[in-house]
Amino acid sequence: MRRTEALRSLVRETHLAPDDLVWPLFVRPGKKVRNPVKSMPGVFQLSVDELVEEAQAGFEAGVRSVILFGIPLHKDATGSGAWDEEGEVPQAVRALKRSVPGMVVMTDVCMCEYTDHGHCGVLKVPQAGRPRKAGQGAPEGELSVDNDATLALLAKEAVAHARAGADIVAPSDMMDGRVAAIRKALDEDDYQDVPILSYAAKFAGAFYGPFRDAAESAPVEGPGIPRDRKGYQMDPANWREAVREVALDVQEGADLVMVKPAVPYLDILRVLRDRFELPLAAYHVSGEYAMIKAAAERGWIDEARVMMETLLCIRRAGADLVLTYFARDAAALLTGRRR
Ligand SMILES: [Zn+2]
Repeated sequence: MRRTEALRSLVRETHLAPDDLVWPLFVRPGKKVRNPVKSMPGVFQLSVDELVEEAQAGFEAGVRSVILFGIPLHKDATGSGAWDEEGEVPQAVRALKRSVPGMVVMTDVCMCEYTDHGHCGVLKVPQAGRPRKAGQGAPEGELSVDNDATLALLAKEAVAHARAGADIVAPSDMMDGRVAAIRKALDEDDYQDVPILSYAAKFAGAFYGPFRDAAESAPVEGPGIPRDRKGYQMDPANWREAVREVALDVQEGADLVMVKPAVPYLDILRVLRDRFELPLAAYHVSGEYAMIKAAAERGWIDEARVMMETLLCIRRAGADLVLTYFARDAAALLTGRRR
């Protein structure tokens, strides 16, 4: 059954189609801005006008979905730019809905691009006088992310995106209870039909480095500011916890759930695929993209072939959709349309 391509395709179990791909795009203020992201060749921070052109080119190549990340000029302690209806993301959503009406527009819902400290929620001083065992909680003098105070802010951000016309909102913050809070706020604002793609199993790790250059969202160094996101993102060692996290988000009303990163976590995708019926997404993240790009630049691997094999294997592991910076290139290869 492997002798010819026709025989092989007759028994092929997994297929990759442009419809399965979601293209992450970064929007920043200004006009005619197209800033290359150094650690991610082929990825740019774009002003709204340039982003529309980029999305149009992607659509022509076969891409049918994008997810938007905002890079605001103004950041503050509460991340108030996140729910500004005139912010970069709502502007880009409206422009895309006008100019590329066939494109599904998702928006990332999180605080880290909008807070001056770079965390995914607002910070608080841990309760004074609370007995603390050695090694428990945040180190002495360190602030921690205020889970419950962040929920209302995320809900406002999601509503602002829905009002602009977002087809799907995608919370990536990993606060407990945020899917329920966002669902409630959307329903109250009459957006019952806007689905939630939950970053349900998002692991804390090193594969996000280049993204933080692109989105300018790395936690900053400063007195009391937690140095990493291990307080709310998942431990890479845990798969049962991933099942629990997804079950909670499903209970709270998530419509689609995501695993992030993708390739080092294919076993997690498989476990979730076998246990849940919801559509499952995988985020092939910036570090995974950068590694392929870097090896290809050196001539050590065949970029197109490694790209296609990687995306196919993420699908085989159980992902229905794949968020990837390769979306346009892969779609162009699949459709045979030049970009
Ligand atoms: Zn975040």
